[in-house]
Amino acid sequence: MDGSTGRRNTRQRKLILKAVEELGCHPTADQIFDRVRRELPRTSLSTVYRNLGILADQGILGTVTGAGKEVHYDHNNSDHCHIRCSVCGRICDVDVHPLDKDRLSPEELSGFVLQEISVNLVGICPECAEAEKERNGIR
Ligand SMILES: [Zn+2]
Ligand SMILES: [Zn+2]
Repeated sequence: MDGSTGRRNTRQRKLILKAVEELGCHPTADQIFDRVRRELPRTSLSTVYRNLGILADQGILGTVTGAGKEVHYDHNNSDHCHIRCSVCGRICDVDVHPLDKDRLSPEELSGFVLQEISVNLVGICPECAEAEKERNGIR
């Protein structure tokens, strides 16, 4: 890798991180790609995928799997739960921690070494609930 390639990669990675943060609510690679391309039109989808993979491997970005097994990226990489809208599929953070890793004993874990806890809640987001009401003629 020569110096200019390295610099370009760093720039792309920074833009990708910025895009994830600005898009907020757990964007997918496609949404991140659209955003990055506005600033760096020559960026390819495979570059975005590759960099997202690296950022996730390094623990800089968290990942959440959506209903369609599509991966959503999360700039908040601390332990937290997610709620997914069963209608539109958007994913939001939930500020509760129903399970405490340190409180689980080896017996409770069937002898497993715990790596992560993922608790996913499913519901209907305010926008979809509102749309549903309108469809039913309730105002
Ligand atoms: Zn929704
Ligand atoms: Zn999150």
